[in-house]
Amino acid sequence: MGAISVTVWNEFLHEKEDPGIAAVYPDGIHGCIAKFLSEAGFDARTATLREPQHGLTDEVLAKTDVLTWWGHMAHGEVADETVEKVYRRVQDGMGLVALHSGHDSKIFKKLMGTDTGRLKWREIGEKEIVWVIDRAHPIAEGIDEKIVIPHEEMYGEPFGIPAPDELVFASWFEGGEIFRSGCCFKRGKGRIFYFRPGHESFPIYYMPEIQTVVKNAVRWAKAPYIPSFVDGHTPETTVEIKR
Ligand code: ZN
Repeated sequence: MGAISVTVWNEFLHEKEDPGIAAVYPDGIHGCIAKFLSEAGFDARTATLREPQHGLTDEVLAKTDVLTWWGHMAHGEVADETVEKVYRRVQDGMGLVALHSGHDSKIFKKLMGTDTGRLKWREIGEKEIVWVIDRAHPIAEGIDEKIVIPHEEMYGEPFGIPAPDELVFASWFEGGEIFRSGCCFKRGKGRIFYFRPGHESFPIYYMPEIQTVVKNAVRWAKAPYIPSFVDGHTPETTVEIKR
């Protein structure tokens, strides 16, 4: 079996507009994520918002097993045509890993069918503890009972997602809020994972445990081969019906 093909998508605006964030991610958030995925043996490439077709051409999408998505300040700039293409690919089996503020992206909202942009937030660099809820889940493999992030942006419940099919992680924040921070969903043949940590001004994606979760999530989100089936009016029976 060949390496899992991952396209790491990033809006790539904060890093260009804010020197403080550029200092954290000199190669962009996408550069950081693609690097640790490549080093782990994934076939990783990057795509960003301001490239033609946002870097998500038909050719790129066709060869992508799993797409990771980081966006924040320019969700509205993503063309509806691209969103529709990504949506169709997920229905057909491409995995999607939505990261941090990707909760408010057009594609995540369309796949969830709810106003996933709804949550509380606060940016004072407080502590977050990401607790493992589902100890047997493959996305939690290699993680002890929790991941401690010294400084993060807070996201708090209520979060406008539908009830996840599987809840892998839940976060506690120093200021008292809680959040469903690792959520699995299935849509059509596709698998979707939402993972909360990853605010742009903190070096979250350099943390080994966070990298472990992203790598596990990509492996999980690559769906097994699922054959197509015929739907619609079915006049022929598959067994003889005695009347
Ligand atoms: Zn953020």
